[in-house]
Amino acid sequence: AKKRGRNRCELESSAHGDPDDGRMNRRGELRRAIEDGELCLFYQPQIDLISGQMNGFEALVRWDHPDRGLLAPSAFIDFAEESGLILPLGAWVINAAVAQQAAWHRSASERPPVRMSINISAIQLNDPRLEEMVTEALERHGVAPGLLTLEVTETALTADPDAALRTLEILKALGVRLAIDDFGTGHSSLTYLKRFPIDELKIDRSFIAGLTTDSKDHAIVASCVQLAHATNLIAVAEGVETPTQLSALTELHCDLAQGYFYTRPMSAEDLEPWFIPRPEN
Ligand code: C2E
Ligand code: CA
Ligand code: CA
Ligand code: CA
Repeated sequence: AKKRGRNRCELESSAHGDPDDGRMNRRGELRRAIEDGELCLFYQPQIDLISGQMNGFEALVRWDHPDRGLLAPSAFIDFAEESGLILPLGAWVINAAVAQQAAWHRSASERPPVRMSINISAIQLNDPRLEEMVTEALERHGVAPGLLTLEVTETALTADPDAALRTLEILKALGVRLAIDDFGTGHSSLTYLKRFPIDELKIDRSFIAGLTTDSKDHAIVASCVQLAHATNLIAVAEGVETPTQLSALTELHCDLAQGYFYTRPMSAEDLEPWFIPRPEN
């Protein structure tokens, strides 16, 4: 009876086009979102801890879903990676972020050009067309490669370190900057820091969260900043939420900080006020 029950289920599901229907619908929906302009970018400022001035932005993707409203990446990035749609999605992000850099520059060319960081998934890093995609976006919009930072996670680098090294060297040769994201959460060996042509180390938010309350987190953040500087990297703290975290990071000589203490990620329009330089004090 069990067996029959199962068969009946199978029959039923094939009659409805399942089991993969939900998945296919989801895939179709995300594909359409990418093609029809339902994705958008939010930007979070990165602040220079010495000057107090804005140094650039991290672009963070959102899905402005017609029924479900504004969706955070946690709602769709994993699925994008599993379904392969991360490649067209990632291509859209690269182009949109660079286009926004160019637009901001055009709208006030007396301002210093805007630096932008974008997140690159492990799958994109393995895509042989990544270099061409980045080059094309920069050329199309007339943005200097040195103004673009590609953030990759430790995990993306350690899965196949030799392949990752080749890709990073190709990207580095374009003149873009490279950052290790979520540093401290993966299992990167210090050897990679030495071998990989990295420019920035982004200390994971989980360590910043305990920075002023947990002596171990404080020690970890201090070591990350020292390690970054000892290997000629810039240290970036993410997830800064309080003034005490900010002063601790300043004392540790961390270079850049981003987090809700300054602002949540915002749309390009809402960010306009951030372009007005702050008065010197
Ligand atoms: P991430 O790269 O580590 O980005 C930082 C995340 O921390 C963002 O979440 C940001 O909104 C959040 N955040 C910033 N400041 C604070 C803070 O002070 N406190 C707290 N609690 N959170 C803060 P978001 O935008 O939801 O993005 C989540 C993740 O999704 C990103 O983590 C990144 O891994 C991924 N992601 C975002 N955009 C893209 C993209 O365009 N491509 C790819 N492949 N992944 C992306
Ligand atoms: Ca990031
Ligand atoms: Ca991060
Ligand atoms: Ca993260």
